[in-house]
Amino acid sequence: MGDVEASYHAGIVSVGVGWSPTSPFEFSSAAPDIFVGRPSTLLRTDRLGSLPYVGESLAAGRPYYGHWGSILRCDDGPGVYALGRYFTTSDPRHAGSRLSEAVLRLKEDDGPAEALGRALGKAVDRLDWTPDIVVPVPPKPSQARNRFAALLGVAAQHMPDEVEVERDGLRCTREVEGYKALGPLERREAVKGAFESEFTWGRAKILLVDDVYTTGGTTAACAEALLGDGASEVRIMALAKDQRTFARKVCPACGRTMRVRISGVGVKFWGCSGYPDACRNTEDL
Ligand SMILES: [Zn+2]
Repeated sequence: MGDVEASYHAGIVSVGVGWSPTSPFEFSSAAPDIFVGRPSTLLRTDRLGSLPYVGESLAAGRPYYGHWGSILRCDDGPGVYALGRYFTTSDPRHAGSRLSEAVLRLKEDDGPAEALGRALGKAVDRLDWTPDIVVPVPPKPSQARNRFAALLGVAAQHMPDEVEVERDGLRCTREVEGYKALGPLERREAVKGAFESEFTWGRAKILLVDDVYTTGGTTAACAEALLGDGASEVRIMALAKDQRTFARKVCPACGRTMRVRISGVGVKFWGCSGYPDACRNTEDL
């Protein structure tokens, strides 16, 4: 998604329109400033400036106008949503991103709980799918603070009445060391089985809430615990979607993206996307 990056460096607002054949997952990892569902919205130039993602609008203290693209779709299926984009502190866009700042601060205190809770509640209200129960990713054993507790209290006031919030629905049973340094596949392995349900869910549809959606390792492990204890469906709402194309590994031989591939005997390895005509470089995973 070079277009979005180029727009940023040129100081121009980027607008995405929902006709692109690009996978929503790729799109959400390099998301434009504004995303609209229909080309005709582009003609409403008076409104375009006021259509950012719900979390970005509310974290910046601006009004929110609900529309199709105000929730970021992070998955090829309907399963993962985000309230906006997360830029790491090493990204130049971090400085201008009130949502990124709010998500970071939420680890320490509840200052951003009001704005982020409103954004979450309004997003849930707007989805074309209504969960029965909202459950957050639980704190690790070493963390005393449940960063989502106050936020979910605010969100409940903005969600449909029938949606319940269960802030202690999951428990994290063990610490995962060095998680951030791991790659996507290693992360999935590392957190497998690290979460347990506190309840049986009786076929409920559950919306799992996390702060930053990066590789989906943590949420996949939580979803497994929820489904294992009776949930009928789990979808995910992240406060923000990480904008590093995390799984993107650049081929040192040619500069193309490398992908995880599986050999004929079942061994995973990195293979250049230029294979077989342009480049045949491979690396051990
Ligand atoms: Zn290559």
